[in-house]
Amino acid sequence: MRPASASAAFPFPSVGPRRHDPAAVAAVAQALTPLQADGLRLLVKPEERRRLSRDAYDYSPVLTPKLAAAEAELVACPVTVEQVEAVAAACAQRRVPITMRGAGTGNYGQAVPLQGGVLLAMTGLRTLRSATGDRFTAEAGCRLVVIDEALAPHGVEQRLLPSTYRTATIGGFVAGGSGGSAPWVGASFGIPATCWGWRLSPWSPSPAAIN
Ligand SMILES: Cc1cc2nc3c(=O)[nH]c(=O)nc-3n(C[C@H](O)[C@H](O)[C@H](O)COP(=O)(O)OP(=O)(O)OC[C@H]3O[C@@H](n4cnc5c(N)ncnc54)[C@H](O)[C@@H]3O)c2cc1C
Repeated sequence: MRPASASAAFPFPSVGPRRHDPAAVAAVAQALTPLQADGLRLLVKPEERRRLSRDAYDYSPVLTPKLAAAEAELVACPVTVEQVEAVAAACAQRRVPITMRGAGTGNYGQAVPLQGGVLLAMTGLRTLRSATGDRFTAEAGCRLVVIDEALAPHGVEQRLLPSTYRTATIGGFVAGGSGGSAPWVGASFGIPATCWGWRLSPWSPSPAAIN
């Protein structure tokens, strides 16, 4: 039997409702303000928030009307791992949701802040820290093309790449690529594990990292 509408066939959660106190976002911004001296950018202008609150979901006629209203109340653009942890802690302390964003090329609305809150835009953490013949270490906002260019002189390349690899980030591909994180830990496509380790910053009231 055919479903009555495209929406019925695709029960993606609609935008909202916000569960956090809007004043809590202002408190997060205030707590993070001193970090601006070290390069953290906090974007509050409506046009900046609107632009960064969408990804490539507009490929989908189903998602486009459903996600159009989603908008972060604050966009944080860190340049260090410590700033990522500080944003995570400030939000967790005040129960404000965080949505992660890489290059925003995901086409299912994965980087859209459905319930507002803070958008954590990761392209400022873009350093490829090392690349040798058999492994690389990169910050989450590093573009995949940068990694491949550094591996090329060693005669190797990444096992998996999206067609958006010139724009897309390693963090966005691991978290949101077509296979998600599964291929990176060897649980998909029958290939050996690709990832040797991650550093995770949990949504936790005290700044912390899990290695
Ligand atoms: C034309 C086109 C072709 C595409 N082709 C492919 C393809 O061949 N294969 C494929 O897999 N995908 C493809 N995609 C989807 C997308 O481009 C890729 O999955 C890409 O790797 C996403 O990377 P991004 O940096 O843009 O991530 P984003 O779109 O910014 O984010 C993707 C997801 O990852 C999360 N995220 C981002 N950064 C982090 C982080 N640091 N920590 C935790 N979570 C994070 C976001 O919250 C979101 O859920 C295509 C998209 C388009 C528009």
